[in-house]
Amino acid sequence: MQKQKLLINGERLKQELERFAAFGRTENNGVTRLALTEEDRQARDYFRSCCEELGMSVTVDDMGCMYATLEGTENRPPILIGSHLDSVKKGGRFDGVLGVLAGLEVVRTLVDHKIKPKIPITIVNFTNEEGARFEPSMMASGVLSGKFDKSAMMQKKDAAGITFEEALKGIGYAGDAENRLRKGTAYLEMHIEQGPILEKEATSIGVVECVVGMACYEVEVTGESDHAGTTPMKMRKDALFAANNLINEIRSRLGSLDEDLVFTIGRVNVYPSIHTVIPNKVIFTLEARHKDMEIVNTVKNIIQGLPYLGVSEGCEVKVAKLWERDTVWFEPELCVLLEQSAKSLGYSNKRMVSGAGHDAQFIASLVPSVMLFVPSINGKSHCEEELTTWEDCEKGVNVILDTVLALLNK
Ligand SMILES: [Zn+2]
Repeated sequence: MQKQKLLINGERLKQELERFAAFGRTENNGVTRLALTEEDRQARDYFRSCCEELGMSVTVDDMGCMYATLEGTENRPPILIGSHLDSVKKGGRFDGVLGVLAGLEVVRTLVDHKIKPKIPITIVNFTNEEGARFEPSMMASGVLSGKFDKSAMMQKKDAAGITFEEALKGIGYAGDAENRLRKGTAYLEMHIEQGPILEKEATSIGVVECVVGMACYEVEVTGESDHAGTTPMKMRKDALFAANNLINEIRSRLGSLDEDLVFTIGRVNVYPSIHTVIPNKVIFTLEARHKDMEIVNTVKNIIQGLPYLGVSEGCEVKVAKLWERDTVWFEPELCVLLEQSAKSLGYSNKRMVSGAGHDAQFIASLVPSVMLFVPSINGKSHCEEELTTWEDCEKGVNVILDTVLALLNK
């Protein structure tokens, strides 16, 4: 006979999500909880008090990341569960906070059932994941993994000229570098999908295999400005018409590469942008994302070949790479554990990729990591309409709990 599964308290999870939504609530039921603001401090203080009530010890590192640890009976690297408590401006009630509260609910369930884990369990709140107040995003996990330089990050300023370091001290969360996350048995990050796939396919659980690789370019097209009324069409070097041709070429060439490839021309600047003047310069960005780096490399070759396409109407085309990142693959064994847990609980599930960046992509270089997605209604996130059903939140945390139990039993 199958053993009864241990389940979380879904009502308690819902109440805590609602409670956290009050820290920085906006008019339309969203959240503005920028990193290291008063709202962030309130959420952090409340999170700390919840953890201390459970007998957990809470430490803070030099980037302001919080670690709440339930001791294990054996001295082993902890199982980490977490995400971030900060939000973008007018963001939603689920992005980030769900992954932290998943950890809280897992520990509460263990404590309810008087289960003393042999491996310590640590809930993590990574500082400034969003990068909405201080760029870049995933700042703290980037420093922890050695991707970003700490002293440079400390000097980053917000729009008001306040540095990250000042803000961190200001809310009382400048901790000790000794407390930094360095090792772990596993890192589990539950997050809303922020895309439409799970909802569209009526699937509750996404087992995330990787954060996709990407390349980002800036294309500069230079022509000549002339009078819009007196210059015959044949004698023009119109940078905008040239850019338009290039954009059409990009659409057709990248569009036929692979159906999972996504690419975006997110910024276009036209100069001098006067209605009586032929544009002499257009600058646009192009980014492309795919899990298969071979496809990303094909994209790079196509982009680098843009100057030679012969569609530039006599204009000069220059291509510059802004930045790129390789695909980060999560721990295959952890993917299997999440999948088995979802199956054993009877929840629909599928393997997927993350097109967006998350702390887990950096933490994966320190600790075997994995992510779990739950559906975003209409795919919406980073806006006040962001929504995930309570039922899916509960299912996701049940999978995290079951996976933690599987790790404890290994
Ligand atoms: Zn997030």
